Amino acid sequence: MARWDQILSLPVQSPPTLEFSSAELVWSKVEGWRDNIDRVALIPFARVDDFVRGESANKECPTRFHVEARRRRPAESTYKPKVDGILEYILYWCSFGPDDHRKGGVVRPSRTTYVPKKKPSGRPNTKRGCTCHFIVKRLIAEPSVALIIYNQDKHVDKKGLPCHGPQDKKSAGTRAMYAPYISEDLRLRVLSLLYVGVSVETIMQRHNESVEKQGGPCNRDDLLTHRYVRRQERSIRRSTYELDTDDAVSINMWVESHQNQVFFYENFSDSDPFVLGIQTEWQLQQLIRFGNHGLLASDSKFGTNKLKYPIRSLVVFNSDNKAIPVAWIITPRFASGDTLRWMRALYNRVHMKDPTWKLAGFIVDDPSADILAIREVFQCSVLICFWRVRHAWHKNLIKKCSELETCAVIAKRLGQAVQRICKGDGTADLFEEFMEEFVDAADFLDYFKAIWYPRLGEFLLFSKTVSVGTNRIVIAIRLKYTSETGLWTSALRSLPLASQEMCSSMEYYHNQLKLRLLNEKEKCVYQRADWLVDKLGTTVHSYFWLDEYSGKDDFARYWKDEWMSGLTAWQKSLQIPDSDVLIEGDYSKVVDQEDRHKVHVVWNPASEYALCDCNWAKMGNLCEHILKSIKCLRDKGSNTPSVSMFQYMQALVDMLHCPPHDSLIRDHALSLAVWVQTQLNAQLGPGSGQSKRQALQLTTAKPDVVTASNRTHTLVNVENDLTELQHPSSATCNLSGGKIDRVATQNGTRTDIGSAVEHPSVEMQTSPVSISACASQLFSLDGITSANVFDENGDVMIDEELDTTNNIPSADALLQI
Ligand SMILES: [Zn+2]
Ligand SMILES: [Zn+2]
Repeated sequence: MARWDQILSLPVQSPPTLEFSSAELVWSKVEGWRDNIDRVALIPFARVDDFVRGESANKECPTRFHVEARRRRPAESTYKPKVDGILEYILYWCSFGPDDHRKGGVVRPSRTTYVPKKKPSGRPNTKRGCTCHFIVKRLIAEPSVALIIYNQDKHVDKKGLPCHGPQDKKSAGTRAMYAPYISEDLRLRVLSLLYVGVSVETIMQRHNESVEKQGGPCNRDDLLTHRYVRRQERSIRRSTYELDTDDAVSINMWVESHQNQVFFYENFSDSDPFVLGIQTEWQLQQLIRFGNHGLLASDSKFGTNKLKYPIRSLVVFNSDNKAIPVAWIITPRFASGDTLRWMRALYNRVHMKDPTWKLAGFIVDDPSADILAIREVFQCSVLICFWRVRHAWHKNLIKKCSELETCAVIAKRLGQAVQRICKGDGTADLFEEFMEEFVDAADFLDYFKAIWYPRLGEFLLFSKTVSVGTNRIVIAIRLKYTSETGLWTSALRSLPLASQEMCSSMEYYHNQLKLRLLNEKEKCVYQRADWLVDKLGTTVHSYFWLDEYSGKDDFARYWKDEWMSGLTAWQKSLQIPDSDVLIEGDYSKVVDQEDRHKVHVVWNPASEYALCDCNWAKMGNLCEHILKSIKCLRDKGSNTPSVSMFQYMQALVDMLHCPPHDSLIRDHALSLAVWVQTQLNAQLGPGSGQSKRQALQLTTAKPDVVTASNRTHTLVNVENDLTELQHPSSATCNLSGGKIDRVATQNGTRTDIGSAVEHPSVEMQTSPVSISACASQLFSLDGITSANVFDENGDVMIDEELDTTNNIPSADALLQI
């Protein structure tokens, strides 16, 4: 076969890891020039950097590769379509070569200006004649593909002897033992510490302490120098966000010089506004790591009143369910038509790295969000988060209504209305009734009427009866107040509600961003977009990077308030012992965990529309005292389950009703339901007082709710069904044991369901693992506190309002069939 035919017929390899090395590729041998045999492989061109990084992290001989030579065909040049035409040629060389500055080594004539230092200091650019190199070619015939030609993959000099790394005895005690530069992780750590204001001296002191503790340097990062850190500090100090006095020009320049942090950019055009999507390499890694089989949430319209352009953050949740921003989108308007383009770009960027990556769910906090675009791009469930509205109500109640007791009654009524709408049991009329009832609280009501009623109400806002001849007709007048008119009610009815834990994380993130971004002395900078992108990409990014860094506690600065790191209110609530909570009718008392002489009073302790007298709650936030009170009441069984739990239960019921009775989908759904339930049970833990068996006895509904005979099949029978599923002939799911185990471990819980359904047979088109894997995230966390939806007999106690004929929003969350 001709050389190029052979090359172009090779498979394009893209290992699903963030970076990969030559060891993870299959190399093919093809005839090269001068009868040489070339070792070649094809990878996506967009992943060349991942390959270079992976190859540099070689365990036996860590190093770094630099671009020794590069040729690019000018974009405008015309060329004959030749099969071997090349758009770009890049020669990567091990940074310990190609020259040899060791005694007696050969230096290329063009590089003889080098004057050897008197002392062999083992500086990073020490050249030791390493011959290891590879070539990357971008072909005209396949521009999306990189051809790698790798013939010299050993780190040896011209004589064929190891010239750096552990194999080279002469390099012992010098940097040549290790890679020539510090790792990317340490580089980011140093930069982040500098950006948040830690001094060079402190960084070096902590570094030296830790190296000393481990008994001297043993890897490349241990050789971090004072000089390097000082140089970084100086360049940060001398840099400016204002690249040009004209903001628009400045932004353009920033985009030009930060290509690897920009995943989407469109300047103003006649029809479309400016859109800039920022994502650093680290953020992309977090999105891949925590977004896969997990949730992505959007915090929209941050800084609408303060900043020149508002920010939309996309966040993922780490293993503690704390939010990490993985992308920032800056644009003057968030019209739904624009969403699809940048979302697609983001998705493609992730998929380029990991083609198997899949989201389980997307949480929106704005009812006008482009749900269709999200579903089209991410192919996942969409949930709605109500924290923003609850927060606004709470804050304004405190501000506009002086009596805490009245506030509590109002909050309770609002909460009940929202809950009923979520459960499909009410309309926006509830708010009308609410307004009639609380006319006395004039200040709050004025605010509510002006801001929220139009957004909550259905479209029919004003009606009038008129007489036409002998007929009286009703004219309905639609008023369009804002882009969100009436959208909230329909969103709450049609989308499953995100759990309280997720709301707590979102609220926390929002407050963190406020503190970390909007802390400038000169407020005029807020009106510059170049300031915004610079600050996000440097200081703000650094705070979030350091949040994930385990050594941050060593720095005193981390403990300062301005950092605002630590536990979310939800996490704090889990640390309050039950004995510190006293429930008394309409309110509860919770002992302050920092000052045990202080006791906080929580009104309406049963719902998230509770009010607490602590400072955090007075600012409109959900505090740990409220969350703890809710949990206590649920544990005692004197509180209804959360809306999320209710919707989850409805989804289970809905699955059982999936006709026909013995269909593949139904069996599949059932096994999925059991798996999700097992996950939840595992989270309840043995100490929760709920035995696994009891929890598994998920009687879905009382007979008066489910009438059709084939609908009386209840989850009490799930164990029988499980046995059925174990039988290979009826095994209908692709939840292979290995896959489940992996997922279960990721969630920090182990279940035995893997072995129960380990017979893979029919591969279905749905992808239940991805959905169920995050079930604990989707439903969980209220689930922990909602164990008592099951009464003693194993019946579900939510049946009064369980109307299976109604729209069942959370079916969406479980079944993307
Ligand atoms: Zn080398
Ligand atoms: Zn509180």
